[in-house]
Amino acid sequence: MSEKLNPGMGINPWPINLFERSFFTVTLATGTALMLWLLTSGQSQQTIQVVYFAIPVSVMLLVLCIEKLHPIQRNWSQPRGDTAADLWSLSIVALAMEPLMTAIGPALAVLIVTSIAIPSAFSLFTGMPLWQEALLVILMIDFGKYWFHRASHHNAFLWRFHSSHHAVKRMYLINGFRLHPIYHMSTYMIAILPPMVLGASQEALIMHSVVLGIAGSFQHANIKLQHGPLNYIFSTNELHRWHHSSNIQEGNKNCGAIFSVWDILFGSYHLDLNGEPKNIGLHGEEFYPMNNYWKQLAVPFLWKKWMDEPMARKAALAKSANTNMNTATANSASQE
Ligand SMILES: [Zn+2]
Repeated sequence: MSEKLNPGMGINPWPINLFERSFFTVTLATGTALMLWLLTSGQSQQTIQVVYFAIPVSVMLLVLCIEKLHPIQRNWSQPRGDTAADLWSLSIVALAMEPLMTAIGPALAVLIVTSIAIPSAFSLFTGMPLWQEALLVILMIDFGKYWFHRASHHNAFLWRFHSSHHAVKRMYLINGFRLHPIYHMSTYMIAILPPMVLGASQEALIMHSVVLGIAGSFQHANIKLQHGPLNYIFSTNELHRWHHSSNIQEGNKNCGAIFSVWDILFGSYHLDLNGEPKNIGLHGEEFYPMNNYWKQLAVPFLWKKWMDEPMARKAALAKSANTNMNTATANSASQE
């Protein structure tokens, strides 16, 4: 069922309108500019590390507060048996996998460089100022993420690993982290390793993390915002709600992580500012363990048993009931 939007939408006083139009931009610009300044002004590693940690945590806390004050759908603030799954996934993705990938990523990149005989001193980005290198690296990573995400919606095997991200019935900050660890690791390998192999600096990768951390916190946010023309640059929450529609035609759109330009360029863009998706969730979720995180980890390996076989049994039962009904109708017609 379609859920009601906040009463009063569209008749906001000007400060609310200003907030809705600028909150995302101001936060993104502030966090990005702060980190760029720290990285280019000779600050200590300790300061950089503290701010690197503080930016996403502050943005997440801010978003969590604003979700309570100015939601797009107030009932999305109410748990639906999904909190445990969301928190487990957040803990594993953010607290375990991120440090693990940060630790092994550089070693993997060196291994690849060595095995394909790229000179270790080679860097595609030599001589570029950090802002320029960071922009290129962010675009490269986002391009890789876009295609892997899009492929995961169209390839049945990859979908098994991405489906848990769509097993949410509402949109709010935390369920942006509902990611199968294998999907998360695969995205990392496909999107982040190439620029690392091409010599991206640690500073450029930090800039990517900061931009993704801020943009990603807003993407699932249950906050009423008006992004206007930014919807044609960034993958905003106005766009991403359509990506979580249970209607496949809508759900297979808007695959960009940070930017929506890939969706515009490659024909997967969908925006309807006059409407909202009727349902958030999976298409065909009848047999899917929607709120059980541990079962979701096993879903890709038990897909046939848990999803395909029950669906086939259900289809066979429906077919047989249909046949019986047709036979009964034919018999009663012949008796008339
Ligand atoms: Zn998706």
